[in-house]
Amino acid sequence: MADAIWKEFELFCPVCNVHFKQLVVLHKVPENFDIAPYLAGFVKSHDHKAYQEAQRLKAEAGGGGE
Ligand SMILES: [Zn+2]
Repeated sequence: MADAIWKEFELFCPVCNVHFKQLVVLHKVPENFDIAPYLAGFVKSHDHKAYQEAQRLKAEAGGGGE
């Protein structure tokens, strides 16, 4: 019997100003488990530098513009 549940949450990173999807494994969590601080941990550990660098490269590659 599988007791691990995979759940996808959409989180918001205020540093990068972006919503991102995070797959979270809930393994034998208690019924009254408070997910909020747990999810906040994912936001905290969001790789801002990597994300912003990727966005910059994307803008450079796709940008043209003015
Ligand atoms: Zn971020």
